[in-house]
Amino acid sequence: MNINLAINQGSKILKNKLIPNSLLDSEILMAKTLNKDRNFILLNSNSIIEKNELKKFYKLINLRSLGSPVAYLTKKKFFWNSEFFVTNDTLIPRPDTELVVEIILRLTKFKDKIKLLDIGIGSGCILLSILKERKNFYGTGIDISKKCLNISKINAMNLKVSSRLKLYKSDVDKFNLGKYDLIVSNPPYIKKYKLNYLEKDIVKFEPKQALDGGLDGLSEIRKVVKKSSELIKKNGKLILEIGFDQKSEVSNLLKKEGFYINSTQKDLANNDRCIVSTKI
Ligand code: GLN
Repeated sequence: MNINLAINQGSKILKNKLIPNSLLDSEILMAKTLNKDRNFILLNSNSIIEKNELKKFYKLINLRSLGSPVAYLTKKKFFWNSEFFVTNDTLIPRPDTELVVEIILRLTKFKDKIKLLDIGIGSGCILLSILKERKNFYGTGIDISKKCLNISKINAMNLKVSSRLKLYKSDVDKFNLGKYDLIVSNPPYIKKYKLNYLEKDIVKFEPKQALDGGLDGLSEIRKVVKKSSELIKKNGKLILEIGFDQKSEVSNLLKKEGFYINSTQKDLANNDRCIVSTKI
């Protein structure tokens, strides 16, 4: 069988299971099977595929047909300017979260040697993207998951920013190290009872710990705001990713802890997604 035929069969299997973008997914999984990029696959679509590779390919197709996200099967996801290593221990970086990076880069355009803290660093996609673009910034990342810290460490090496990054395993409550010019966090903010209504790919495969914001969706944000008000320098900026319906509640929390709300910004789907504030 040639590559093209296998891809079409894979795509058909996915389509029958109502997986959207079945052809694209099939191509990506073929690329993963052969350890090549998608261009190679498209340029060599008439090449014959060996039996053991075909078996490997159908195994991936089967996992995808059961809902496993492509990023977890390929172990990578492109975010901002870089490819990030991901496993199912961390959330898959979202295009919406690129908004947070964009905002921070805009805010820090003329800054020099500032110290950043990422609370709940996960894969590292936010902080490491910034460190890669701002060569004299220093970053600290904390997470309660040791596995996430290992993933961040690998990504920091891949992006060549390790020398400017410190990582700590810590709950936000218990972290008391340093003072920061800018703090960023994409904390878990989904209401507990809504978790099961997220898309199947998300609920079944992504880490609940990174999504579950407790009964009112604010339990982690509350901790992040409180701790940030202690760890941030005067006039420092706190940038938070929030749920589409959390703008006013989070604004109130911030004001109570001595932050001035600079702006809230909308994501690609026109939902409030990011709130920028300054410690006064
Ligand atoms: N935006 C994510 C989602 O919709 C949630 C991320 C989070 O809770 N921090 O799945």
